[in-house]
Amino acid sequence: MSHEGIRIVSAEQAQREDAEHERLPGDAVTPKKVRVMKTEGTGVEIDWKDGHQSKWNFSWLRNACPCATCHEERQQTGRLPGVPKPKEKTLLVMYEAPVKPLEVTPVGKYALKFKWSDGHESGIYSWEYLRRVCRCDVCLAKVEGQ
Ligand SMILES: [Zn+2]
Ligand SMILES: [Zn+2]
Repeated sequence: MSHEGIRIVSAEQAQREDAEHERLPGDAVTPKKVRVMKTEGTGVEIDWKDGHQSKWNFSWLRNACPCATCHEERQQTGRLPGVPKPKEKTLLVMYEAPVKPLEVTPVGKYALKFKWSDGHESGIYSWEYLRRVCRCDVCLAKVEGQ
């Protein structure tokens, strides 16, 4: 059996990969309002120009980091954006504090950059990427219902 054969690609991932080829309308990837609840530690909410609303919690966003390293690692393990890595089995049980952003900075007019409490900061979250990984009921239903 080749390595290709054991790579698990879920239907959802395959559809997302397909969806990456079609362009979203400008209003769908232009935020009207961006709320980063850094003090509350909850997550990010975006109101889009086309009237759509999206929100994500911080740990979801950390696990959906779009940088090349994280993206490749997810591809290799067949993990979808936002899904946490499986816990390593060790004898030592360590408490891991939930990952939070220490700093959130806009990148030009097209993206957000997070400096996470675990030290990672190479992901650039473009509006387009965020809109594509929208977790609202409508978008999730679309992914599952196709
Ligand atoms: Zn990353
Ligand atoms: Zn949505």
